[in-house]
Amino acid sequence: MKPATATINGNALRHNIELIKSLAPHSKVCAVVKANAYGQGISRVIHNLADKVDAFGVARIKEALTIQESGYGGKILLLEGFFDREELLKTLSRRFDTVIHSLEQLELLEEAGREWQTEQAKGFWQRKAKIYFPINIWLKIDTGMHRLGIHPEQVPEFYQRLQACPLVESIQFVSHFSRADEPDCGYTEKQIATFETATAPYSAQKSISASSGILYWQQAHYDWVRPGVIMHGISPHSRPITDLGFKPVMTLSSSLIAVRTHKAGEPVGYGGAWVSEKDTKIGVVAIGYGDGYPRNTPEGTPVLINGRKVPIVGRVSMDMMTVDLGAESHDKVGDEVILWGEDLLIEEVAAAIGVINYELITKLTPRVITEYQD
Ligand SMILES: *Cc1c(COP(=O)(O)O)cnc(C)c1O
Repeated sequence: MKPATATINGNALRHNIELIKSLAPHSKVCAVVKANAYGQGISRVIHNLADKVDAFGVARIKEALTIQESGYGGKILLLEGFFDREELLKTLSRRFDTVIHSLEQLELLEEAGREWQTEQAKGFWQRKAKIYFPINIWLKIDTGMHRLGIHPEQVPEFYQRLQACPLVESIQFVSHFSRADEPDCGYTEKQIATFETATAPYSAQKSISASSGILYWQQAHYDWVRPGVIMHGISPHSRPITDLGFKPVMTLSSSLIAVRTHKAGEPVGYGGAWVSEKDTKIGVVAIGYGDGYPRNTPEGTPVLINGRKVPIVGRVSMDMMTVDLGAESHDKVGDEVILWGEDLLIEEVAAAIGVINYELITKLTPRVITEYQD
């Protein structure tokens, strides 16, 4: 009998990446694999995609180091750049590509560049048993997200200062959409226009589209696209994307560890939060918030048992949850329970719980067993 298990389908992952490439045929692909590849397991995702994509994108330097140490020798992009001098030095020695989104980062790079120039001759950097290399910079422009990035009017100054820095190999432009999943809101057109105006004087490569941009903004695919969640067959918003041809990569499943007869009027679980109105059978499933299934899940959220949807009842606890199987049910101990997958889409579960898909997959805990199918 299997406890909470995430089964990752390599075939579906490879299918999805080919679909993304066909949607953005003129763009290179920077596959975003932050947060343990969206909870799907970074090493297997890298293994499946290494020869199919042009770069991997991450949010933390630790993630970049993990990818490089797994043997991948290609391009790795730090999407938020280095956070301090120590990370910058690692970035330079490991030859990671990095975003620069702030003056603080630019100044650190300039300072390192000056040291590099003056100390290089004396062999100082080499003496420290480290070798530093010029790197590729992705200058981040705030086109309307207003989270990270320099203002469009700062582009000329940043560009010129980067060009003057000896540790800069090349300069690319990058930005991020805030409402690309709302095709009719009018905001994305403005972001695209701002991006184009700010970058027009330069021949540098450009990137702005993540998953929603890839699906809905053909005109904004530019030189590089940066897919994250859609690689896993999961929607960047609440509407499923299986009708676009994407295949869910993860099936989260567990097992029934008890089936109990239950009388009308009896409560179930902590706080007695749910009381059955009629005689029924309660199934106990070996998965809980200790595995990453949200504790605040409302009653009625579906799970799939023997091909039918049954509702969660009572509070989700750390190791278990309870479901109402119905008086006439024939489910038995050991039967598989699917929390999400091909036949119960994560979009339906996320909507019932009131969270986004991204949150469900990235919050799974290390206790969940991960299995891979090719
Ligand atoms: C996370 C992230 C992505 C991928 O986003 P998805 O919506 O999962 O495709 C792309 N670019 C940046 C800068 C990101 O932080």
